[in-house]
Amino acid sequence: MISNKKALEMIDVISNMFPDAECELVHENPFELTIAVLLSAQTTDVSVNKLTKHLFKKYKTPEDYINVDISELENDLRTIGLYRNKAKNIQKLCQSLLEKFNGIIPETHAELESLAGVGRKTANVVMSVAFNEPSLAVDTHVERVSKRLGICRWKDNVRQVEDKLCKVVPRERWNKTHHQLIFFGRYHCLARSPKCDICPLFDVCREGQKRYKASLKEV
Ligand code: SF4
Repeated sequence: MISNKKALEMIDVISNMFPDAECELVHENPFELTIAVLLSAQTTDVSVNKLTKHLFKKYKTPEDYINVDISELENDLRTIGLYRNKAKNIQKLCQSLLEKFNGIIPETHAELESLAGVGRKTANVVMSVAFNEPSLAVDTHVERVSKRLGICRWKDNVRQVEDKLCKVVPRERWNKTHHQLIFFGRYHCLARSPKCDICPLFDVCREGQKRYKASLKEV
């Protein structure tokens, strides 16, 4: 693993590449954002946005989601992966939101995590994007990029990745860094075909160097 100083230098490079990175899930309020984040599991934001463009016109409140039969909600979500599970989780979330918080998305991390179907990542995203509270959510892009660059260990779990990033990055930059790492992973250091040949971090990236050496052997 590299030092915190080197890690922050890498993140500074990423930050300069994507200065305007922001949440790409279209939403108009914390409730819509929470639903969109739940829908985004193992699905692209583009697919979620296509779906929610219509979904959010039909379902505006937690009651709207639980007042329909599960099969109707499943049918409305069928364009995205894991739609059956997601329909079930959304109904559970809305039920617990009504029971515990009168249908209003709470503004603390602990309360958010107390909701059915809301894990640490979702709570972090909602705290950061909806309420502008410093959080550094770790999704698949953030985890992959942090590990490839050697900021974290390959064996680190998601929570360890989050803790490490929060140690490296100044607190006031957590929210922005989350989006910048996502953009870097989504548009540059892609899972299957990272753009190592044009990467400004190539010289210091262990994954980039490994791939380069492997490519030399293939020649
Ligand atoms: S060198 Fe390749 S693997 Fe490393 S950060 Fe850049 S694109 Fe990703």
